[in-house]
Amino acid sequence: MTYRKLPQTLYTDIAPTPVADPAIYLYNHELSQELGLDDAIWRDELLLSGNQLPREMTPIAQSYLGHQFGHLAMLGDGRAILLDEIVSPEGKRYDIQLKGAGRTPYSRGGDGRAGLGPMLREYLISEAMHALGIPTTRSLAVVTTGETVLRQTPEIGAILTRVARSHIRVGTFQYAAHKGVVKELADYTIGRHYPQCVASPHSYVCLLDETLKSQARLIAQWQSVGFIHGVMNTDNMSLSGETIDYGPCAFIDTYRADQVFSSIDHQGRYRYSRQAPIAQWNLARLAETLLALIDPDTDQAIARATEILQRFEADYYSAWTELFGRKLGLDQATPDDRPLLEEFLQLLEADQLDFTNTFIALTDQPEASVFSSADGRDWHQRWLARIEPTKAKAIMQAANPRVIPRNKTLAEAITAAEAGDRRLFDELLAIIQQPYAKQVPPKYTEGSEPNDRFITYCGT
Ligand code: AMP
Ligand code: MG
Repeated sequence: MTYRKLPQTLYTDIAPTPVADPAIYLYNHELSQELGLDDAIWRDELLLSGNQLPREMTPIAQSYLGHQFGHLAMLGDGRAILLDEIVSPEGKRYDIQLKGAGRTPYSRGGDGRAGLGPMLREYLISEAMHALGIPTTRSLAVVTTGETVLRQTPEIGAILTRVARSHIRVGTFQYAAHKGVVKELADYTIGRHYPQCVASPHSYVCLLDETLKSQARLIAQWQSVGFIHGVMNTDNMSLSGETIDYGPCAFIDTYRADQVFSSIDHQGRYRYSRQAPIAQWNLARLAETLLALIDPDTDQAIARATEILQRFEADYYSAWTELFGRKLGLDQATPDDRPLLEEFLQLLEADQLDFTNTFIALTDQPEASVFSSADGRDWHQRWLARIEPTKAKAIMQAANPRVIPRNKTLAEAITAAEAGDRRLFDELLAIIQQPYAKQVPPKYTEGSEPNDRFITYCGT
């Protein structure tokens, strides 16, 4: 495991705590193939529960800090244990981690465990994000533990096997800076994620710049499917540019720019319209940890870092314009098109329309106006004049998913699975693998009522 070559302060050697009666609930064969894993070894409840590990595995829990809702806290893997790193047939290195594998020195008051419902939710949403073409950690398996975990109500215990390009977070850099080992971590991260920076004369500026670019694109991709992460704390932002830590996340039904789903996000800090500025704020926390490496002269370092951070907006809007442009049939949207795209979202909100389904309605019938207001009809005329109808349809079909995990359907499927009936969940999982399918059973594309207030809870 390459991570163990880093300074010891960055991790703790620790084995998973065995569970009573492990059983495989889900196994992602397609992913195991892609990773070149041998199912004879990995498709094993003893391994995927952490009950019995091959001798050569040296599991660890990672240390990190995190700004949680703006407040810095000492964290670390409180219920996750990194089992191993593997290299795929394409030569890409991945972490394999068990989430819910028992207590660690970072557990604080927690039990180190996870419930079946939340782990099914992470499995399904991460697979949906992958199918939508959005960088994300993946889910290899869910095992039930034969134990009960105590939350608001008793839940079925479960462990998720998470696969990630790494688990290096902005919070890992904050921790490393606090401990004086940020150079070691930065060099490791460059080698693992941004090898193009190795030869750069300013490799740490390059690291910041590349991380920023990957986040700018990632957040634009979230926006383009109406995904709200819900807990964009600095410990939940990965240097790899993957979406990580599916907690109270959810997809928008009826469009609202200030949509919040999380029960604990009282201020709306992580609402839909704030995801890009928050990512930039988190990147500023990353930049702070790199200052001494960027330039020994602090003023120079701050000037250089600020210059990079200020590029975020341009990078983000360029990705945003490209993605929303395609969603509205424009192959090469330019900054001049931004008002047309932004106005569309304002009209969606004014008419309380469903985000996903309205893009689909325009895709299927570009000539039919989707709006009721005079402003909306005016927008529609301008839009028709801007697009090339023959080309636009194909662009829109490729850019607009028909299927996203719908809050109501997902909640129903998980509730049924927790009660012992997994049919709805399995069906939903199959449906979300094909987000661009033309024929989808109507119940999977149904939005909510505009006044429905769906709430996600922490630990979900
Ligand atoms: P999250 O909000 O999921 O990103 O988690 C924040 C921190 O709480 C991380 O350090 C987690 O490892 C830790 N944590 C969450 N749930 C538990 C639990 N049940 N037991 C121990 N630590 C936990
Ligand atoms: Mg986290």
